[in-house]
Amino acid sequence: MNNFPRSAYVHIPFCHRRCFYCDFAVIPLGNKVETLQGYGSKTVKEYLHFLSREILSIEHKSSLSTIYIGGGTPSILDPKQIKELIDLFKENYGIDYGAEITMEVDPASFNQNDLYGFINAGINRFSLGVQSFNNQILQKSGRRHLREDAEKSCLWLQREYDSGLIKSWSLDLIQNLPLSGFKEWQDDLKKAITFSPPHISIYDLNIENGTVFKKLVNSGKLKLPNDEEAFKNGESTYLILKNSGYSRYEISNYCLPGHQSRHNRVYWSGSGWWSFGQGSTSSPWGEKLTRPRVSKEYKKWVNSQYEINLDSSLINKDYVYKELDEKIMLGLRLKEGIDIHEVFKEQHWGNRKFERNLSKLLKEWESFLESGLLVRKGNRFFLSDPKGMELSNQIIISMFIWWDRIN
Ligand code: SF4
Repeated sequence: MNNFPRSAYVHIPFCHRRCFYCDFAVIPLGNKVETLQGYGSKTVKEYLHFLSREILSIEHKSSLSTIYIGGGTPSILDPKQIKELIDLFKENYGIDYGAEITMEVDPASFNQNDLYGFINAGINRFSLGVQSFNNQILQKSGRRHLREDAEKSCLWLQREYDSGLIKSWSLDLIQNLPLSGFKEWQDDLKKAITFSPPHISIYDLNIENGTVFKKLVNSGKLKLPNDEEAFKNGESTYLILKNSGYSRYEISNYCLPGHQSRHNRVYWSGSGWWSFGQGSTSSPWGEKLTRPRVSKEYKKWVNSQYEINLDSSLINKDYVYKELDEKIMLGLRLKEGIDIHEVFKEQHWGNRKFERNLSKLLKEWESFLESGLLVRKGNRFFLSDPKGMELSNQIIISMFIWWDRIN
């Protein structure tokens, strides 16, 4: 068995329009887009052409155990286009028996026939971006779908899961959106649970530069929950989901037994993955490589890969994972936390440096250990749940401070 990545992320950058909080590498195509022919199809076909070239540019291909088609809004594509993508992997990399093949879907961009088309193409897990079931909140956030679209999509996915046509699905919500007070948030959670999704992702709203929300915040026109309200929302999420049988396996992710996202665990564990498409980041052997976020630059970049041979430039057998801070951060997000000795070992520090850096980190974490936000069992450190998970930023920031100081 070789050590080539067994997971691939594919970025489909198209959306109908940009939501008010989103700073992803997306290409808004408007409402009338038709990806096979007609309006917008030329842009889409051209992108898919370069995406395929990039996928084929890898020399050291190995059979894949997870594929994740994200975006953007991949469900803007026609099922035929999704099938072509999956077939490309099947024919050139191989796909393991029982592989997890996930696709992100947006409630207002697919119908029931499309769903069957995606399933026939090979998708066996869906991630549905509901964000909220409240029409006022959805509109205030620039989402294109309404509560009715979300409910319909949930019912379709619930039915296909119950009938065994798909292996799992995730219902994704955003916590602390504008207008989402304690009551509205509880309503959203309770509504989500009625569809019994095997997996629920709860993302915290981040105000990113360049977004509509950022401008509104700067001009004082957007009221968001304060820290106390946000903490209360987070705590209620944990309790409501726990009482409904969900366990939190990562800060933003809950699931019923057996439904953790295998693909996301690859990122969090620091194992290698391929990534294809503009703005996406791969990490085949520890070293990260981010593609240009703009289409024109991305296309140029793909062309240049054939000249410099991207694949061989990525094979750096002597590479040491330098971003220890990132590895600790990702590890702490997981329920099981991290074995600090294991991650320190990868740095190949001498004994004295190892001990010195460890004692400095422990000093930084002393108060969190005392207050119970952080828990230590032998060499393993993990966040308490829900308090440590909800206040994880404080612990992670202190670790970044430690990292800056020792470098
Ligand atoms: S649909 Fe998703 S990717 Fe597209 S703009 Fe909205 S949040 Fe961003």
